[in-house]
Amino acid sequence: LINVKLLKCTENPERLLEFAYLLCRNLEEDGEIDQKIHLDRENELIARIESIWRNKHFSCFEEASATILASKLSRICTHQLVRHRLFSYKQLSMRSVEAPELQFIVPPTIKAHSKALEDYSWLAEQSHEVYRRLRSYGIPPEDARFCSLDGIETQIAITGNFRTWLHFFNMRFKSPPSQWEIAELAQKCHGLLLEYAPNVFDFKYQPLWEYV
Ligand SMILES: Cc1cc2nc3c(=O)[nH]c(=O)nc-3n(C[C@H](O)[C@H](O)[C@H](O)COP(=O)(O)OP(=O)(O)OC[C@H]3O[C@@H](n4cnc5c(N)ncnc54)[C@H](O)[C@@H]3O)c2cc1C
Repeated sequence: LINVKLLKCTENPERLLEFAYLLCRNLEEDGEIDQKIHLDRENELIARIESIWRNKHFSCFEEASATILASKLSRICTHQLVRHRLFSYKQLSMRSVEAPELQFIVPPTIKAHSKALEDYSWLAEQSHEVYRRLRSYGIPPEDARFCSLDGIETQIAITGNFRTWLHFFNMRFKSPPSQWEIAELAQKCHGLLLEYAPNVFDFKYQPLWEYV
């Protein structure tokens, strides 16, 4: 199972989004911005975030951002993830970690099939064994890793603004059509961000996500 951890998030993200929205409407002139962001007016805040949604003023969502560390996921999953170009990434280097120190991710369909599990486990162990042999011949990790399977575990830090996260959830949340592992990643990241910005990541706005 994928582990996710929130490393960093904009402080009071929804307040900042509300500020961005109000700024665009030039409400600063009559001092309204100060009131809106400094007073605890929860209903006002929700109404403003709703206005961002309804008016499709999605660039406001770029003002807040979050970094999530994901681990115990495969390089197959991260290969799909890094196609999302607007995130920034830091991923475990296979040049600095010896592959046999890492586990292989086992897909549920393989786990549920004893023969398939046996074959996959055998191949995984063989790949580690060949890796060790290559290393004993003096082959560096950057070349020895060529014999590792794509299913090997990795860890990756993902940084993006809320608009980018919304787009990622929009594309990857549901399986099918998304592959099960990246869907699990999307669902877990969504769970973390929902706590910090419920009015941004709430499913009630999901019909509008397709435009984000
Ligand atoms: C179910 C599923 C199946 C897939 N199957 C395949 C497959 O078989 N083969 C394959 O290669 N990929 C596949 N993909 C990956 C997919 O094609 C995208 O590369 C990936 O999902 C990233 O999406 P994106 O480009 O919208 O996201 P991001 O890179 O995060 O971009 C976000 C948005 O920014 C804008 N944008 C970013 N860069 C540009 C640009 N250069 N020019 C114009 N606008 C830009 C676009 O509006 C884009 O939607 C699949 C994805 C899914 C969800």
